[in-house]
Amino acid sequence: MFKPRRVIFEEKALEYSLGEELLKRFEKENVDILYSKNGRITGIPGKSPGEMYGEGKNTLVVGVRKGLKFESCKPSAHYQLPIVSGCSGMCEYCYLNTQMGKRPYIKIHVNIDEILSKAGKYIEERKPDITIFEGAATSDPIPVEKYSGALKKAIEYFGENENGLFRFVTKYAEVDSLLNLKHNNKTTIRFSLNTNSMIKKYEHKTPLLEERLLAAKKIKESGYPLGFIIAPVFLYENWKDEYGELFDKIHKDFKGIDLKFEVISHRFTKRAKENILSIYPSTTLPMEEDLRKFKYGQFGYGKYIYKDEELTDMKEFFKNKILYLFGEDNINYII
Ligand code: SF4
Repeated sequence: MFKPRRVIFEEKALEYSLGEELLKRFEKENVDILYSKNGRITGIPGKSPGEMYGEGKNTLVVGVRKGLKFESCKPSAHYQLPIVSGCSGMCEYCYLNTQMGKRPYIKIHVNIDEILSKAGKYIEERKPDITIFEGAATSDPIPVEKYSGALKKAIEYFGENENGLFRFVTKYAEVDSLLNLKHNNKTTIRFSLNTNSMIKKYEHKTPLLEERLLAAKKIKESGYPLGFIIAPVFLYENWKDEYGELFDKIHKDFKGIDLKFEVISHRFTKRAKENILSIYPSTTLPMEEDLRKFKYGQFGYGKYIYKDEELTDMKEFFKNKILYLFGEDNINYII
């Protein structure tokens, strides 16, 4: 359960009832409270990259989302829904490590009603087409849901909207506040899974596989559309045995239901590698360029993916496993 070491309130956030409520709540808890007058976030300590990173991950900013222009979110959705940025998890490979600065604090927005009403405008513009919003493009929104309540509001909002759909992905298990909401099948919740050995090695401060699956089971029982992302897949010594067991566990509780699988092999960029090494100098993440194939990316930077032979073997393995246990319709993609 995420409990920040310090909370920084943007002054404007205190003009909203949620901002006030959170201030009262944190005043009763043993956390440092700081304020930001101009929206600049200062006061997060740390000298080395590792310290700055760790202190950032322990900092919650309660703010107001000012610019209400949404970023696009291709190809999986039309727009990012900006409810949270940052994540309290400390996955060594996380894509956010290169995006959130040296002190990657977690920020929630108290003006969620304004954000949702902006989403409504985007939906109107695209009508009669359906507009899809992604709630986890720059975060894992679950660890801070108990403070923001943003997912609950978004799920209910999209539940009532004819032309909008909502989706988000999480590694976390605190989903109880989302059960029994009127989602009307408009929100898809995807759980990101890995083998326990990879979780323990690389996905610090996140729940084990069994806890994630238990949360997914609750979500399934609440009738939400559900999906699983198996990522990043690492090809280590006994990966086939362990990923095979992972699928057997999923099959036990989810056989026969409409499920979508996304499977993503591990990849890294040069920039991400440098960043990871500054935060985790003794990381054992497999990032040896010589052992990988370089693939040019669409934004001018390339990434290191597994070599062709390994990738073919990996794709074949996951395809067969999913086909055998669940069926072809359940494969979204394997890359
Ligand atoms: S849980 Fe997701 S968003 Fe959070 S650190 Fe891990 S990979 Fe990044």
